[in-house]
Amino acid sequence: MAQSARKILSLALPLCFTVLCVGLGVGPGAALAAAPPRSRTGLPPGIRPYVVVAAPAVALEHVWVLDGTGRAERKDQTLILAHGRIVALGPAAAVHVPAGARVLNLRGDTVIPGLVGMHDHMFYPAGRRLALYNEQGYSFPRLYLAAGVTTLRTTGAVEPYTDLALRHWIAAGRMPGPDIIVTGPYLEGAGAYTPNMHELTGPADATRTVDYWAAEGFHTFKAYMHITRAELAAAIAAAHAHHATITGHLCAVGFQEAARLGIDDLEHGLLIDTEFDPGKRPNVCPPQAETARTLSGMHVSGARIQRTLRVMVRRHVALTSTLPVFETFAPHRPPLESRVLLAMSPEAQVAYLAVRRRIGEQTHSPWPALLRKEMEFERDFARMGGLLMAGEDPTGYGGDLAGFGDQREMELLVRAGFSPAQAVQIYSENGARFLGMARRIGTLAPGKAADVVVVRGNLGRDIAAIEQVQLVFKDGLGYSPAKLLASVRGTVGRY
Ligand SMILES: [Zn+2]
Repeated sequence: MAQSARKILSLALPLCFTVLCVGLGVGPGAALAAAPPRSRTGLPPGIRPYVVVAAPAVALEHVWVLDGTGRAERKDQTLILAHGRIVALGPAAAVHVPAGARVLNLRGDTVIPGLVGMHDHMFYPAGRRLALYNEQGYSFPRLYLAAGVTTLRTTGAVEPYTDLALRHWIAAGRMPGPDIIVTGPYLEGAGAYTPNMHELTGPADATRTVDYWAAEGFHTFKAYMHITRAELAAAIAAAHAHHATITGHLCAVGFQEAARLGIDDLEHGLLIDTEFDPGKRPNVCPPQAETARTLSGMHVSGARIQRTLRVMVRRHVALTSTLPVFETFAPHRPPLESRVLLAMSPEAQVAYLAVRRRIGEQTHSPWPALLRKEMEFERDFARMGGLLMAGEDPTGYGGDLAGFGDQREMELLVRAGFSPAQAVQIYSENGARFLGMARRIGTLAPGKAADVVVVRGNLGRDIAAIEQVQLVFKDGLGYSPAKLLASVRGTVGRY
């Protein structure tokens, strides 16, 4: 196998200098700007302070590789990046390092594809008196990139024009951050719990809203908790007419109902599916506590939940796992990390720690058991052939921060029973497939974009190594997580 791999690799280098390679930049996330200059001094000032590797060619030598396809880690590999692309990948002894390449000996490190965060908002909960969400247009793009997220879907906007501008600013090198796939404003029905959302007045309003934002450049949409069946049907039809995808964090509409209506993706998973509630009425969102109580009395292996899984898989509805936000509601769960607290403003720290302490004091909480059920649900979904993707949802009560939450999600996927290689695949290839970007990103292979994350240690053996990101290459430029993190210290919660 090594021989044939070598042959493929030797073919790959010239391939990338043809039109074919340029043609790979398709889909909504394709970089808007031409490839930035390959030396630090020529870089736009907005990103220059954070880029530590910029060279015409870069060799990442002697690394472990998890390539994003789910295949187990390979040892002692070398990757060559040039012109914003991966141009070679293979055993270190077999890969030719071009003359003049910047050579990084990374023995002991693991290289994975840039993460594709599929529930990575640009906003954060603010205040306790009213449910409001504030855009974090400065800190969040930096935190996501520092954590290894090179592409994200915003999965709901509270400041759509800010999100759109961030996408363009990042693509133009005015600021550091991932490629942003913008999702339109929430498609919420009557009964919104936050004034951040427009409440649809009926199916015609759903169509009008989707049409408007599609024309503004939004290619993904998100339905929200109180949307009715008729409004959802209209939103799905309108989104699909624009060749856009639509996902949902639903409540008034159950999962099977949404799958039959043609939704493309469902967020969060079992723990928000209301269709099993004994008192569920059509188009009404029951209280969360009721759903939690219902699910506490059910088994994932039981016929009813298995039927939902089958309907989702048969209808090609993807599922986005967001375990870290659920985990923050369980007592004594996620470890308190100083690196996370350092990123928060003092006010955000105080607010978060106060709620965390109250939850920590609970002696009876349904959340640990519910979290285990959610994990089982996601494992079954993937085993049945469903497209499982991952994100973090940096909301809840503020303990699940941009980027750090993506890393935590990866750890929780492994706790759920996936191998580290599968967790990487869920976080890269699967998201890329859903976004229609798999030809360009999501796996490590010659011809793909040089969106590559270097982590310290053998990630295939120890998923916690994901917290030790050393370098993040985006379009071939190597960003320093340390410099990105230093630039956001004390800012989360403010901007
Ligand atoms: Zn969300």
